[in-house]
Amino acid sequence: MTKYDEIFENNRRWIAAKTATDKEFFEKLANEQRPDYLYIGCSDSRVPTNEIMGLDAGEVFVHRNIANLVNNTDLNVMAVINYAVRHLQVKHIVVCGHYNCGGVKAAMQPADLGLLNPWLRNIRDVYRLHKEELNAIQDEHARYNRLVELNVQEQCVNVIKTAAVQQSYLQNQFPTVHGWVYDLRNGELKDLKIDFERVLHEIQEIYDLTGEGLMKK
Ligand SMILES: [Zn+2]
Repeated sequence: MTKYDEIFENNRRWIAAKTATDKEFFEKLANEQRPDYLYIGCSDSRVPTNEIMGLDAGEVFVHRNIANLVNNTDLNVMAVINYAVRHLQVKHIVVCGHYNCGGVKAAMQPADLGLLNPWLRNIRDVYRLHKEELNAIQDEHARYNRLVELNVQEQCVNVIKTAAVQQSYLQNQFPTVHGWVYDLRNGELKDLKIDFERVLHEIQEIYDLTGEGLMKK
């Protein structure tokens, strides 16, 4: 476990390493950010966002919360999506869950978790939507793993429901939305290969916010 004071020593070493290979590393970043990616992931400390993607500072705009949820009444995540799409003009939005997610596991416990109840209720909603598929999985661990994947899928759908994403895609053909799952046991990133175009069209039957009605064709 790293001691508190070591953090600042680590920071000095990190600055030295960064400037050793690129003298203007910090000057360049201080001017502006132009990330192509918005990453929405779980707050879990075992998922080091930039590291698993091999991306450096300035390359990914990040939002994290318990169990990587995209809730339409959460001003925080909605502001992040809006800013990333309309101002940063990111090309890709990733929702990344992970196996062994404590949030997903907690959501399925028959227990009162206080403040976490309304937050984790979103995951129970995902379970309800996919109850038949999930209940058919005998092995409990496999069922949780599948719930992690389905949760990512449904949060991608929530991203696609936003006006910012629909309007930007209509005008610019970006961003596209991707669902990933990170495996804590071996470090692997799995692309769930969500068919963005198909989901977008399905969603817009009911959630069209483009004001154009063009995407239904
Ligand atoms: Zn998690």
